Amino acid sequence: MARLTAISGLNRKSAALFLVEIGGRRILFDFGDGLEPGEHPDIASIGKVDALCLSHAHEDHIGSLMRLGDVGMPPVFATRRCFDDSPASIAPADRCEIPQQGQFDLLGIPITVGRSGHAPGGVWFHLPTDLGGFIYSGDVSAESNSMPMDPMPPAATLLIDASYGDRDSLLSDQKQQMIAQAKGGAVVCCPPAGRGADMVDTFRQAGYDVKAEAIIAREYQTAMGQAVPVVNVQSARPDDVIVTTGSNGEEGLSAALLQREGFRFLFSSHVPKGCPAYPLIASKRAQWLPWNVHPRLRDILIWADQCRADRVIPAFLDVTTAPKLMSGLGSRLALEREMEI
Ligand SMILES: [Zn+2]
Repeated sequence: MARLTAISGLNRKSAALFLVEIGGRRILFDFGDGLEPGEHPDIASIGKVDALCLSHAHEDHIGSLMRLGDVGMPPVFATRRCFDDSPASIAPADRCEIPQQGQFDLLGIPITVGRSGHAPGGVWFHLPTDLGGFIYSGDVSAESNSMPMDPMPPAATLLIDASYGDRDSLLSDQKQQMIAQAKGGAVVCCPPAGRGADMVDTFRQAGYDVKAEAIIAREYQTAMGQAVPVVNVQSARPDDVIVTTGSNGEEGLSAALLQREGFRFLFSSHVPKGCPAYPLIASKRAQWLPWNVHPRLRDILIWADQCRADRVIPAFLDVTTAPKLMSGLGSRLALEREMEI
């Protein structure tokens, strides 16, 4: 029998940490940190684990890596790209590199992985259980141009990224809105190891002379095999369309340009209250526009059917804000913090 405990990541957008106990092993899926200032998951309550699996290198999924000692310094299973994009250093002896597609052996358990479509090197995980299998999706998206998503296999229990709840608008429509709003110059903010390459590609396709912070230019080169002009805080001009890191103006080139006059900012990530973007958007000095990097309502309902899931756990969401998702899932909706899987 296997058992799932949601340490963090249910009921609202917060750090992802899910514990699976199976065959005498304790396996942790993701090791994120909270998104609000001062918010941290209850890592002390977890105890020693035998392995840590990382879905991708975003703060809410890997941000607690410096606290690995608190869970017994387990071996860490992740793709090479996830290790490369992780700011925390993991000792080579503790790094277990996994493929982005296919199977790997996790302490005797055959785990299947597939590309998540959400971040470079990002994966979803499937593990066999007596009750018909379990999928931990991490963050997933079906709409990226540069990052394809692999279909997930059948599983009785599907723990799915539901960050957007009932949002069902198309990325293709959102891109048109972003293109229109960036006309005449804008600082377009995104996280590193995220949608930067897709954003550069979108503005290029629209005929814009787009520029990028160095880290985004490297991601674009890797994803698309093409160069994009690099810009920095000295060379940036307010009439440029610039794709930068610092998804909420908290770091990277976007943070530096916030100190200069004349730039317009377009944000599209989840906006925690404590970040620089929050007051700017609230006072209409910056604009927030949607750009899907998580599943739409229709995606979750289609995948629940395709996986033939008996139970669907919508993660990273206050489900009371998503009545369409609740009714679409019906009796499959599962919200318990602990359950047999
Ligand atoms: Zn993510």
